[in-house]
Amino acid sequence: MRTLIFLCCLLIPAAAYAQDPVAISGPDGNLKVEVAVNNGTPVYSASYKGHTMLKNSPLGVLTNEGDFRTDMRYLESEIGEVEKQYTQRKIKQSYVEYRANTLKVTFENEQEKQISLLFHVSNNDIAFRYELPAWGETMATVIEEEATGFIFPSSAKAFLSPMMTPMTGFARTAPSYESGYVADEALENTNAEYGYVFPGLFRIGEDGWVLLSETGVSSEYNASHLSSFADDGYSIEYPSQEQNNGFGSTGAQIGLPGVTPWRTITVGETLKPIVETTIPWDVVEPLYEPSQYYEFGRGTWSWIIWQDNSMNYKDQVTYIDLAAALDFEFILIDAWWDANIGYKKMEELIRYARSKDVGVFLWYNSNGTVNDAFQTPKDKMHTAIARKKEMKWLQENGVKGIKVDFMGGDKQTTMRLYENILSDANDHGLQVFFHGTTLPRGWERMYPNFVGNEAVLASEMLVFVEDVREKEAFYATLHPFIRNSVATMEFGGVVLNKYLNKGNEDGQKRLTTNAFQLATGVLFQNPVQMFALTPNNLTDAPKHELDFMRALPTTWDETKFIDGYPGEYAVIARKHGETWYVAGVNGGAESKVLNLDLSFIPKKDGVLIRDGEEGLTSVQNEVSITDGTFEVEVDSRGGFVIKF
Ligand code: CA
Repeated sequence: MRTLIFLCCLLIPAAAYAQDPVAISGPDGNLKVEVAVNNGTPVYSASYKGHTMLKNSPLGVLTNEGDFRTDMRYLESEIGEVEKQYTQRKIKQSYVEYRANTLKVTFENEQEKQISLLFHVSNNDIAFRYELPAWGETMATVIEEEATGFIFPSSAKAFLSPMMTPMTGFARTAPSYESGYVADEALENTNAEYGYVFPGLFRIGEDGWVLLSETGVSSEYNASHLSSFADDGYSIEYPSQEQNNGFGSTGAQIGLPGVTPWRTITVGETLKPIVETTIPWDVVEPLYEPSQYYEFGRGTWSWIIWQDNSMNYKDQVTYIDLAAALDFEFILIDAWWDANIGYKKMEELIRYARSKDVGVFLWYNSNGTVNDAFQTPKDKMHTAIARKKEMKWLQENGVKGIKVDFMGGDKQTTMRLYENILSDANDHGLQVFFHGTTLPRGWERMYPNFVGNEAVLASEMLVFVEDVREKEAFYATLHPFIRNSVATMEFGGVVLNKYLNKGNEDGQKRLTTNAFQLATGVLFQNPVQMFALTPNNLTDAPKHELDFMRALPTTWDETKFIDGYPGEYAVIARKHGETWYVAGVNGGAESKVLNLDLSFIPKKDGVLIRDGEEGLTSVQNEVSITDGTFEVEVDSRGGFVIKF
């Protein structure tokens, strides 16, 4: 990995006309940010090719050492540029070149205390953060509120997921980023009581798209979200006091000099920059070295379809054998393994898995002290003492990773727990993914052993909730543009059972086609994917579906937007080595004929799996791209995948 950073500076002193905006553009000149002071309030705006994407929107923070939102005075600006290259196997693209122009603007408040904003503007992304110096002898502060706003032109429509009500849901574990979405909604209707989670997508009339998110949140800050719509726009909101059973501060305690996380704004005329952005990882750095080379891959997971009853030695052997039969790398053994199998027998089970070349992930309850989640093992992850003892056992027995569940809450106290678990796990050679959790904000790069979060209305809700089965295809068309664009997403999908239960004869009927399910294996991106296949699929699924799953990668060198509209349909392409996969799903009520531009794919012949009769798949072994394009028909709630 080679990283080069140039920060060369040109100082623009406070001019006679200090109220004039200072401006910066991205390297190709299309994306422009202006910063000014309006009646004492710092503001910024953004445009793309001259079209307004964000109107003058407020900036500022409130700290326990002073208010930096009003009565502010412009002092000076500094421009520069940044360039870096990095490799990252866990995200949508394995090698990234990042180039941005930078602008640092310094203001002072009435007490003559200074604060700066640092903007990075690349061709399609804006990232900015607040930078706080030491104020004389003051070396620590608490940031209580942030005034950062996002005021859109009146043509804007919103695609947003509401923040869950704290201390509600299963065992009072909310919020866990497991709500539905509104799509193409008038902004004035987006007034959820607790605001909206990141990321949030906005369509700016016919001018383009804006994706808002946040990155670089470590133990040194809280995670934030968008307010509900008020005063013509949205603002950064810190976690509600009610989270974590009311315990812990909502703001951030930082040392000085210190910085906030990055606020990110991805802008495009089309959805291409929205799908392909790497901004969440461009502006962060690894926080520690990996203790070893971590292997990624696919796993089986009995709990998702066979549920709690499968938590016994015999069924877990069956799922280890299933993983081996599918050439999968892992098995995830979910809740209750400690009680129903026991630590001693688990050592035997893990040895059995190893004999089949299957690595083991084990589930843990993060609780604890913050909610009523009762599944065991619990009380093993929330203190350093318990965690290190447990991780020693995991390491001695060759466990590959852990899934830690029920982390609900975005306060700094919870961010510290995430980081402590990740850091201790790395010391013990363990990879970690979280469920019942927040959006990971740059974590794929910051924490080398982090392999994804749930933070989505995931496959378990298909099992539990009829309405989620009804909307499965609708939600799937949103994720490449929103949730899965800014972070990996451990969805736990690809269900080939007709019914989402062990008997597979009646009950929770799946409403999407088999081709749709296979397409989500490519569409939803996470470096470790626990799939919902069941042992019966070895005999009841056609060979071409099993062969597809046997060869499916979970890491990608490139990702490309091909076609789609969030809430209606989505088609993307991903490349692994020399192989391209093109996958699409249709969330609409009617079938769709898509004419796709695949001229960028060098190989012209591929294998197509598409919708067949009655939700089953039809396979065509030698399809070709003619004149750079490819036509495919996709059923309502259907999908397709082509492998070139
Ligand atoms: Ca969950």
